[in-house]
Amino acid sequence: MKLYNTLHKQIEEFIPHEQGVVRMYTCGPTVYHYAHIGNLRTYIFEDILEKGLTFLGYHVKRVMNITDVGHMTSDGDTGEDKMKKGAEREHKTVYEIAQFYTDAFFEDCRKLNIKKPEIVSKASDHIPMYIKMIEKMLKDGYAYISNGNVYFDISKAKNYYQLSGKNPDELMVGVRDTVEEDKAKRNPYDFGLWFTLSKFENQDMKWDSPWGIGYPGWHIECSGIAAEYLGEYLDIHCGGVDNIFPHHTNEIAQSEAYFGHPWCRYWCHGEHLNDKSGKMSKSNGEFLTVSLLEKKGYDPLSYRYFCLNSHYRSQLVFSYEALDGSQNAYRKLKQRVQSLKADAKVEEEKMPTYVKRFQDAIANDLNTSSMLTVLYDVLKDDQLNDATKRSLVMQFDAVLSLDLLKEEQAQVVDSNILAQLEILIAKRNEAKKRKDYQTADQIRDEALQLGYRLIDGRDGTTYQKI
Ligand code: AMP
Ligand code: ZN
Repeated sequence: MKLYNTLHKQIEEFIPHEQGVVRMYTCGPTVYHYAHIGNLRTYIFEDILEKGLTFLGYHVKRVMNITDVGHMTSDGDTGEDKMKKGAEREHKTVYEIAQFYTDAFFEDCRKLNIKKPEIVSKASDHIPMYIKMIEKMLKDGYAYISNGNVYFDISKAKNYYQLSGKNPDELMVGVRDTVEEDKAKRNPYDFGLWFTLSKFENQDMKWDSPWGIGYPGWHIECSGIAAEYLGEYLDIHCGGVDNIFPHHTNEIAQSEAYFGHPWCRYWCHGEHLNDKSGKMSKSNGEFLTVSLLEKKGYDPLSYRYFCLNSHYRSQLVFSYEALDGSQNAYRKLKQRVQSLKADAKVEEEKMPTYVKRFQDAIANDLNTSSMLTVLYDVLKDDQLNDATKRSLVMQFDAVLSLDLLKEEQAQVVDSNILAQLEILIAKRNEAKKRKDYQTADQIRDEALQLGYRLIDGRDGTTYQKI
């Protein structure tokens, strides 16, 4: 397996600490609002990574946090508390908001076939762990108390800027303009580990600590939860590119200070989904959620297919036209797979070449579009019988998770009807070419009588059961 490692800015051979086992940590959602489809692109990438590693034979132990405390509207210590903002917006308690949006997040994941990680844990459930880590960092001189809060001293961290590749001098110029100065900090990029004195006097979630009643900073929760469930060494840590600085940078600083040795070997980051106006956000323009796509008539898995067509390290621009194209291609693919018959013997000896090609696509820094190419090549191969094709599709779909064979179990697709539909579509295309719209409409009605609606799209015509 080869993966791009943000830490060294290069593609590297993946070698886990323990042979065959992957300890993987992925930052979870801040549950103050619905996830937008940009956030979900990152979770799709992480899901494919986990399933891809499993396909290659690794046992993946994956942990994800749910951020229900400590995340400010900036990713540093400034701005409002996101959870409190959500609670005020909806006149609910922070706890109600957290529960509601956690459930909504997993519902979106279910629709997108994103598997729930083996361990999912709320940030607010691990306060003793954060306190233990902060106490050790204070004792060892990595942290300091100032104005009642506890801060991490970034000047004590080894190689603080390695992950982001940022130049400290440039940052210092930027900081004067962008970061609200907290006079309690020694260095403007020092970050809060525990807050007691803050501008949020009526903070709902707070706990007792050796430094007074307060709450943890956002970054310490991921270090704490990862340590709690995965121990001293991590193999892979993921998130979106916006997490590189300051969040993941600060996680490295804390965890390495706490453990006293390098912590995570591979840092993998998914690029953003943008809209035409730039980065997608919850406050910018139309708030694109899975439910909105469904309301507009899209199958959530068309969005998954849309994401799989581009590499996780490339920016992707969302548009409804592009999604229309994906929906069409996805439907065609599914129809093609469902028309495969299962009545012959699987030709086992013909499978390894394709399985190997699929494995290579995974191992090539998770090349999802190559994985799809292998799938299409299987479908095109005249030397394979239908049963062999189905068997390969089933294996690949364990990673792609596009439900390519699923509906077939619920309703037996009559291959005769599908063949008739293909003929009708071809005839109708001819009619349309001749501008004989009357015949084209008649053919559409014939399809309706067979129980199928014809749908015209940019990449041709598909059909849908009515
Ligand atoms: P949040 O709930 O804000 O903590 O974000 C959840 C995840 O979504 C994080 O891993 C972010 O890095 C990621 N993310 C945020 N915006 C985008 C975007 N436009 N495209 C892809 N991922 C994103
Ligand atoms: Zn995190």
